[in-house]
Formats: sequence, C-alpha cells, structure tokens
Amino acid sequence: MRLPAILTILAALLATSSSMASADDGDVVVQAGHQGRPASCAQLHVKACNLGTGAAGERERAWTVTVADEAARILRARGYTVIRRPADYADHDTARAAVFVHFDGSAVACASGASVGFPDTTSRAFVDAWKKRYLATFPFRFRGENFTENERRYYGFRKVDAPEKLLIEFGEMTCPAQFAWMRPRLLLLGDDLAAFLMERLPR
Ligand SMILES: [Zn+2]
Repeated sequence: MRLPAILTILAALLATSSSMASADDGDVVVQAGHQGRPASCAQLHVKACNLGTGAAGERERAWTVTVADEAARILRARGYTVIRRPADYADHDTARAAVFVHFDGSAVACASGASVGFPDTTSRAFVDAWKKRYLATFPFRFRGENFTENERRYYGFRKVDAPEKLLIEFGEMTCPAQFAWMRPRLLLLGDDLAAFLMERLPR
C-alpha cells in the first residue's frame, strides 16, 4: 500500500475516533505541556504546534512528562482519580481541578521565571495557595500572572470542565541558574504539585 493511502485511512479513523470522543471524569487532570508533539499535531489537526522550549540539550516536553507523571503517581497512590493528558487529545474531561505543566523559555536569558496562567473561573484562593507554596522554595523571580495571552487563553482550559484550572510555568529553562536549580528537582516539583492538589482537594 502506498503511504498516502495509509495516511488517508489513518485520517479517517482518527476523524471517527474524535467524533466519538468521550467525556472522562476524574478528580484531577494533569497535562504535560507539549507531550507527544510534533506527531500529535498532524493527527489532531493542530495548527499552532508549539513544541516548547529547551536548553542545554534538554527539552521542555521531556521535563513536563517527568513532573506530570510523578504528580499523577503520588495522587493515584493516595486514591485520587487522575486523568493524565499529553498536549493533544480528542477527549473532553470533567474534574475537580486541572493543572497544565510547563517550563518557560526566553529570547533574553533570565528575563522570565516562574509564572501562572488561569481563566477567570479559577479561584483567587487556588492561585494564591500555589504561589505561596512554590515561591517559598523557588529562589528566582516570579514573572507574573497571565502575563501572556497564551497563558490566559491556554487552549487546554477549553478541554476540561473544572472549577479550578491552572497553567504552571515552573521556571525558565533558558536561564542557566534556573535550569541548574530545576534540573535535579523535577521529581520534587511533581511531589510538590501533588501535595498542593491534595491540600486543595481534600478527600
Ligand atoms: Zn510550554
């Protein structure tokens, strides 16, 4: 079979599966930013295929997976139902909270730092609790809340119904000092995220 024919069949199958996309219910949605790209962009017709940042031979889309998997592992061990999502997927979820894991990059090294993005529906208490927890350990600058349109209008927010939705940029990979601080702590960042979610979502 010629390759284009295979692709046509695959596209038809994917179109069928996305039209049958189901709603998944859980306690928490944990998305690893950029995971599965670029392959998933073609499959799911994503035009703005942002592959994420990177530095020193490391990619954001590998770091986000490490953090998201660790947070999901801890939450599941404590009995929470976790919907663990990559960058692109057909389904729409319902949960108590949704977090979207990212690391930032900057054209001017160290111009950025940690930040958060969220829709208007997310509570002030949820945002403040994360900032208070994370900034107690992250020893670099906090860049701001919703400081870009991409943060405020993150496409992932539309993929889930949840009272609390938060995009977390843990820090700037392209800043050598932040990179050196974060790199050996990826699992700890996941643990911290899980602890935060368990505190905000008591069982
Ligand atoms: Zn990102």
